[in-house]
Amino acid sequence: MQNKLTEIYTALLTHYGDPKWWPAKTPYEVIVGAILAQNTAWSNVKKAIANFGDNLSPEYVVRLKPDELADIIRPAGFFNQKASYLHEVTRWFGQYGNDVNVVNKLPLQRVRAELLALKGVGHETADSILLYAFGFPSFVVDAYTIRLLSRLPIDVGNGYEATKSLFEENLPLEAGFFNRYHALIVINAKEHCRKNPVCGGCPLVDVCEAGKGKTI
Ligand code: SF4
Repeated sequence: MQNKLTEIYTALLTHYGDPKWWPAKTPYEVIVGAILAQNTAWSNVKKAIANFGDNLSPEYVVRLKPDELADIIRPAGFFNQKASYLHEVTRWFGQYGNDVNVVNKLPLQRVRAELLALKGVGHETADSILLYAFGFPSFVVDAYTIRLLSRLPIDVGNGYEATKSLFEENLPLEAGFFNRYHALIVINAKEHCRKNPVCGGCPLVDVCEAGKGKTI
């Protein structure tokens, strides 16, 4: 399994290069993006984040009233709900002085449990924050990952944690590596492994059962 997962990573990296994710200026912007990205397209998240102008900081957000915050993030959809989630995660970050260097010295499992206890933070959001905001080696599983595994196919059984463990138990526990791996899966899902797959030109066509013979 280790070889197969490494082969997939190498093929994706060779084809697309280092994706240099997450597209954000600060770790706090990653946290905000991870919440806003729930159930919406990234283009809407970008519009919502742009609405903050130069004010996207935990100190600013925590002082906003719920309706003021909801108004700013309106383009991301579910804005009242997401405003409440954002306030909650921002207050949590505030307990650590809004300091990434304080959080990333804590045990990963403790931070993960704290994030998962917050309203509106599910597994994918928690792992995105852990990996991309705080640099913890916590693999992010999303719908694109599940789709890719089902097509290769790699059978991991059911559930988020089983899929996450597949990567974490068979690959080096390195944040930079997990960062690139997840980003490459997303890029390939958008370019090739779509709902209706475009296998011709996909860098995984030689290792993927579903793509066998589809080289055009
Ligand atoms: S070969 Fe086709 S099914 Fe397989 S990963 Fe690529 S696009 Fe998806």
